[in-house]
Amino acid sequence: MIDFKSVLHKIHYEIGSRKDRGTVATYIPELAKVDINKFGIHLLDKDKNSYSAGDSTTPFSIQSISKVLSLSLALSHIGEKLWERVDVEPSGDPFNHLSLLEQENGIPRNPLINAGAIVVADVLVSVLDNPKKDFLEFIRNIANDSSINYNEEVAKSEKATGFRNYAAANLLKSYKNLHNEVEEVLDFYFHQCALEMTCQQLARTFFLFSNRGHCLQNQKHLSINQVKRINALMLTCGFYDEAGEFAFEVGLPGKSGVGGGIVALLPNHFTVATWSPGLNKKGNSKLGMEVLEKFTTETGLSIF
Ligand code: GLU
Repeated sequence: MIDFKSVLHKIHYEIGSRKDRGTVATYIPELAKVDINKFGIHLLDKDKNSYSAGDSTTPFSIQSISKVLSLSLALSHIGEKLWERVDVEPSGDPFNHLSLLEQENGIPRNPLINAGAIVVADVLVSVLDNPKKDFLEFIRNIANDSSINYNEEVAKSEKATGFRNYAAANLLKSYKNLHNEVEEVLDFYFHQCALEMTCQQLARTFFLFSNRGHCLQNQKHLSINQVKRINALMLTCGFYDEAGEFAFEVGLPGKSGVGGGIVALLPNHFTVATWSPGLNKKGNSKLGMEVLEKFTTETGLSIF
């Protein structure tokens, strides 16, 4: 039996003293303002026991981590038809690369890069009655937490600086792979990126991916096959152009965001979330990557 509590505290203590913590994202002021010294870890095991270290109950902007959640909701609505509009291959590109141009068919490489996530957002705008409200409802439901919300200031800033996302959405529209209005789809997309959660909430939200599609309240949201696909996409596409490195160092499916969050999981075992806002050169949390590498190395708990 592994003593998660002492493992997490030891890792938090060792890595928390690092001087080089990377650089916070600066493309919008709200992210640039975040204190680089914040550092939290939360682990939720399969029996729903929780273990925390550091700032695990401070909310932060989950950014691209939300792409896994929008993908899940879209998949639960339209199933395998989704793959007619978005591919499942790693891109090896930075998060904001258009990753469309080279293919000349308007099909983004995968749903976890921006262009792919914008197609997924388009699907949700088509199938949901009240997209922003219904998406938030879905997340609050799987996390069993009604306090989770969008940060409207972040959403506004995303819109004001989202030139590449406008470019991607317009390009998708020109290929007829965007069925709704660019403004409406991007308003949804900017809001999903602006969701705020704590490490604790993030681990709870992602519990269903380690629990065969059943959320904390044991409701079924995804089939085992859909969970397999989503976990495979996290493993191969979840870390921008550092997905290979994450699989190599950590060996878990996971997803990062430029707010400094990372969530990762071992199917049938645990879900773990880390937050340290300083990013490495590839846009992934510098300390978060180190925490998870140490965690899987010390415990031997990885998919490999
Ligand atoms: N909101 C960001 C964007 O679309 C996503 C950042 C991320 O990759 O975490 O530009």
